[in-house]
Amino acid sequence: MKIGFDIDDTLINLREYAFHLYNEKLNKEVPLAVFHRLERVEIHEAFELTDEQGAEMWNSSLEDIYFNSCPPFPDAVETVQKLEKSGHEIFYITSRPKAHGERTLEWMKTQGFPIEEERFFYGMKDHEKIRFIEKIELDYYFDDKPEVLNTLADKGKTTVIVKDQSYNRHLNFPRIQEWSEVENFIDTEGF
Ligand SMILES: [Mg+2]
Repeated sequence: MKIGFDIDDTLINLREYAFHLYNEKLNKEVPLAVFHRLERVEIHEAFELTDEQGAEMWNSSLEDIYFNSCPPFPDAVETVQKLEKSGHEIFYITSRPKAHGERTLEWMKTQGFPIEEERFFYGMKDHEKIRFIEKIELDYYFDDKPEVLNTLADKGKTTVIVKDQSYNRHLNFPRIQEWSEVENFIDTEGF
């Protein structure tokens, strides 16, 4: 099977990592409960920043957010490794900007994710992901973001699975809370 993954907030806990970073940088102590109630992908509202200030904060923190010590979600690395060992083809499709693509690939490798470089795609806008997913003819695709997932509804052969987040609970797709649940959808024993 061909199995594709978004990276940020699907395989790795990026927003929560950034949330802690914002607390540090802004010298605040906004509790994590606020994070878990956010209904947008963006986190800046929790810090009473405007959209413009939020974008500025995100961009000025990007180096830290992307390439420091953001943790993968529990069992994410192990699950993808298991799928790869079972003979599945693993693809990554991230909208991280082109300028950060190669470093993201290397960073993902150091986290332990199995990566074939020709199956690692980056630098596309949310609405462009669908073209890649159709072209590659994925059997399964995992993502968290409503703007992406909505373009993937009823798209032929690809089964789209949502990684549960506070801002995507209104979407009606098969859903995982934890990466250990993937075994309910895809055979990880195989070959
Ligand atoms: Mg994402």
